[in-house]
Amino acid sequence: MNPKKQSWWENASKDEIIHRQSRILSHYLKSRVLPFTRHYQTLFESNGLEAGDIHTTDDLQMLPFTRKEDFGETRDFVIIPDQAQLKAQWSSIRLALMYGKKGAKKRLEHELRPIFMTSTTGRSSDPVPFLYTGHDLDRLEESGRRLMQICCSRPDYKHVNAFPFAPHLAFWQAHYAGLAYNTFTLSTGGGKTVGTEGNVRIITKINPEAVIAMPTFMYHLLQEAAAENARWDHLNTLVLGGEKVPAGMRSKLRKLCAEVGAEKVDIMSTYGFTEAKVAWSECRPPEGEAPTGFHVYPDMGFVEVIDPQTEKRVPDGQAGEIVFTQLDARGSIVLRYRTGDLIENGLTYEPCPHCGRTCPRLLGKISRVSDIHQLKLDKLKGTLVDFNKLEHLIDDTPGIGAWQIELRKHNDDPHDVDELIVHAVGLNGDLNLEGRIHQRFTDQLEITPNAIEIHNWEQMRKLQGVGTELKERKVVDHRPKETTS
Ligand SMILES: [Zn+2]
Repeated sequence: MNPKKQSWWENASKDEIIHRQSRILSHYLKSRVLPFTRHYQTLFESNGLEAGDIHTTDDLQMLPFTRKEDFGETRDFVIIPDQAQLKAQWSSIRLALMYGKKGAKKRLEHELRPIFMTSTTGRSSDPVPFLYTGHDLDRLEESGRRLMQICCSRPDYKHVNAFPFAPHLAFWQAHYAGLAYNTFTLSTGGGKTVGTEGNVRIITKINPEAVIAMPTFMYHLLQEAAAENARWDHLNTLVLGGEKVPAGMRSKLRKLCAEVGAEKVDIMSTYGFTEAKVAWSECRPPEGEAPTGFHVYPDMGFVEVIDPQTEKRVPDGQAGEIVFTQLDARGSIVLRYRTGDLIENGLTYEPCPHCGRTCPRLLGKISRVSDIHQLKLDKLKGTLVDFNKLEHLIDDTPGIGAWQIELRKHNDDPHDVDELIVHAVGLNGDLNLEGRIHQRFTDQLEITPNAIEIHNWEQMRKLQGVGTELKERKVVDHRPKETTS
């Protein structure tokens, strides 16, 4: 990395970062959020607040959180300017003086007119659309360029983006990353468009240095490539997103990479969510070293970590829930948005031991509270199961290939107890997998599965919906809904 080329988001001290973020925030609230965003107008008003009351990111703590349940009317979260008010703003007048009336109009339209959209996946609730303006797409490109830099990709590399083609952040972030970095990027559209075989064929033909995909899908791609004796010997980078990447998954991916001739592959995980409109990545670690967290862009958003119970901010380095505030985005925006994601080791502003950047980093495993809530496992033998823990437990079982957890009701009776079934496929015809899974449950959890069913690869791909689903199904809920009569 050339230090001369760095900008403040990657080398400023914590004090400078907070100072700059506060300035952006205060101007943003006054000029764009409060005048033009209905939800926040109402929220400020009902709490007796004005834009001018918030000068710093610390002052933000006066503002109540925004939660998933608050998303009602899409337009309430969109910056929709009142034309007369916009025209009267000093910044608009200055634009008109500089570029003429037409030029100013064009620039304001680029900044403010929604032209693009992604949405949440809508597994647990209705999908929430998030609108982007031209200004936001510029930011999506910029964050993409940074992802490429943080992952130490190179413009002469070939990239394959195997995220599923959908109006989801992951696919478009990867697409715009390629454009912004001026590098070859082929977006296959993932399994649903050209199938697993199609992706394997394309990757074999292109022999890219980097593949960007969801971890479970990547695993199936490599499994199939290895079975076909494909050679992916240029591959040195896997960038994963859309799901968490347990340590067990990383080592399985590395092993398979070696089987297709990719001896040294660095694996970087990314983290993003629709409401942030950008994704963050781990940087490329030196050989054999652990990743050092997700590198956040402090000029595009403000991240707080709070205690989900007390709802107060926790000190740096402490676990808590990730809360996100847009800085200078247009289109759909959020302030103090509670992601429902828990970060194990909190936030740090210490320089990254690998790349030296001082941007804030989110450290440790991320667990989605929503995953737990969504499954409502309270009837499972009377124990509340931490699904995030369960996932790591199964993924890190030696000898396990792919797996799926199935929930069903005893006798399919909605009033009966829940049952948990583990479906698994072993590596290299592992004979004792069932016993080992059972043992790990006994050692680490208060429950044991009602059944462990061992499958072959073809059956597992069918169960997970590889090539037919947008996202492989690792947890399925077959419990009949309770009917009220
Ligand atoms: Zn780093």
